[in-house]
Amino acid sequence: MPETAPLQALTTANLLALADQCVQCGLCLPHCPTYRLDQLESESPRGRIAYMKALAGGNFEPTSAGDTYLDHCLACRRCEAACPAGVEYGALLVGSRARQAERRPPGLRRRAVLALLARPRLLAGLLGAYRHAWRIVPDGLRRLPEPPVAGPGAGLEPSPAAPGRPSIFVGCIASSYEAPTRLALLKLLGAAGVDASIAPDQGCCGAAARHSGESAMADSLASANRAAFSDAGDVLCLASGCQETLAQSLEGTAPVVDAVAFLEAHAARLRFRHAGGRRVALHIPCTQSAVTGTAPALRRLLAHVPGVDLLELPDAGCCGAAGLHQVEYPSRAAALRAPMLDLLANCGALELLSSNIGCRLHIAQAAGIPVRHPIDFLAEHLA
Ligand code: SF4
Ligand code: SF4
Repeated sequence: MPETAPLQALTTANLLALADQCVQCGLCLPHCPTYRLDQLESESPRGRIAYMKALAGGNFEPTSAGDTYLDHCLACRRCEAACPAGVEYGALLVGSRARQAERRPPGLRRRAVLALLARPRLLAGLLGAYRHAWRIVPDGLRRLPEPPVAGPGAGLEPSPAAPGRPSIFVGCIASSYEAPTRLALLKLLGAAGVDASIAPDQGCCGAAARHSGESAMADSLASANRAAFSDAGDVLCLASGCQETLAQSLEGTAPVVDAVAFLEAHAARLRFRHAGGRRVALHIPCTQSAVTGTAPALRRLLAHVPGVDLLELPDAGCCGAAGLHQVEYPSRAAALRAPMLDLLANCGALELLSSNIGCRLHIAQAAGIPVRHPIDFLAEHLA
């Protein structure tokens, strides 16, 4: 994982120094999904850096349009991965959004979603009720998207972390909707001879709060996770979108490792059965390619399954999920997702694998085929 800036609030000098790294070459523009969507400089990394720099330097009063362009940023960090000057766009964005949140408090919808993400049990109960209500409304009257289905394993009991023992990170919305994947991970770890726990009292990684500028909430979630994982060995993370924020929170407490990369390191002990030539599509989330860097480990791990017709989707840009973006800007999120859905529809795959829960939930709403974590597929094919 690339080095990340520390979590302390950035000073004006810090923000200006980060913005000054940009030499305005524009090489990042073709890699930016929002620039590709709108073809506007203001919707590009270079345009956003100029806006953040002007605000930090006090040369410019914030405008509603400028704030909207900043809100549209997906925090995918494709620009950072493409930048030859090494601009730390992610750190600049988080610091600038923290200031933005101070002068422009978040709206009701954002506050409500962040509050729910910080309370996974309440969130799981409400999503269950929403699903029930959605089922009883007749087809033609449904105005909201179909909620995802919580699978078996949602009641999996946490087990105390023991010193040196790997512990699985659960997360917020994933506490319900990734429960089957945690069972699958435990099955794979068991087959590899690894005894893992699920530390109690852990919570949301805080990425959504951090990327929304809600630093106090993100700090509080980080503190709770530090206490929960204080005795853990490696903390295994199933969601590429959570990993960096969790790693920053647990710095000096426990190392955070992509569960896929951890399993790949133990793959010599795993045996898989033939997949019967099944065509499976693979989606690499932005956070896996630009932040965690674990896509190669995932490809190597999947290659251990014989007889799978694995088709990695060509890069069609960010799927549009991007944390709260899919909730706050559903039509933009759908437009960003469309090219990827076209690729999926034309490839003949029977299912799609993706390592980030936010991407999976967003893509599954329109994919027409099952969308699962690669860990689910791997566990299903254990010999
Ligand atoms: S962020 Fe990097 S690639 Fe983009 S304009 Fe600035 S220096 Fe160039
Ligand atoms: S983080 Fe993503 S959406 Fe935001 S400016 Fe960079 S490439 Fe564009």
